[in-house]
Amino acid sequence: MMQSIERISELLQGARFPVFLTGAGVSTDSGIPDFRSPGTGIWEKVDPMEVATISAFREDPGRFWSFYSERMGMLSSAKPNPAHIALARLEGGGYVKGLITQNIDRLHSLAGSQLVAEVHGSIDHAECLECGSSHSYDRVTEMLAAGASIPLCDCGAALKPGVVLFGENLPGEAIREAANWAGQADVMLVAGSSLGVYPVAGLPELTRSAGGVLIIMNDSPTPYDEVSEIVSRGRVEEVLPRIAEELGV
Ligand code: ZN
Repeated sequence: MMQSIERISELLQGARFPVFLTGAGVSTDSGIPDFRSPGTGIWEKVDPMEVATISAFREDPGRFWSFYSERMGMLSSAKPNPAHIALARLEGGGYVKGLITQNIDRLHSLAGSQLVAEVHGSIDHAECLECGSSHSYDRVTEMLAAGASIPLCDCGAALKPGVVLFGENLPGEAIREAANWAGQADVMLVAGSSLGVYPVAGLPELTRSAGGVLIIMNDSPTPYDEVSEIVSRGRVEEVLPRIAEELGV
């Protein structure tokens, strides 16, 4: 592992436009289970493909929120872990020009990262599908804490969490920014994602086809392992801090 830490650090040092892409594996150490790993937490009881869909929300917002408020509660207590903190430090040192994340937990922002594209949305706000207004995370959690079974907009409609539900399009602005970064990247480091979900899974290909190199840091194989410069199976919350240390940030 020492060798891959040195090589990754060297690549980042020589990079003109290093971009990072993170997935669920970066947040597991914060106690947030990856719903694609079976038998973890709330996903034991419900099938996200059934409850976390836009059609389930539209059909029965009460049922949707009876599930989602539990998820919000779990996400609310989660804190950034050493992987998030290392990425924020790397950004501060100029080693991250863009951080694309599939995570909706806002932990990158809480850790201090600023150049973040949340391509699956975030719980930091909720949206009204009727009038289009946006409501803060604090406002939504207050309504839930006060006993509301469905957080409501001022117009009376049910609010939807600002995360992308199954069956919804990805947020256009975030995905455009992510694609722009991926196309400019001379180094893309993928941390904690199996790259199984499109369109995000296509972003490393944008980097590659523009001549950039890939570094994969994930505990299981990805479709890009064979075309990557470095593949590390180390734990992201251990490896990323060691890279930050190696780079002196
Ligand atoms: Zn409204």
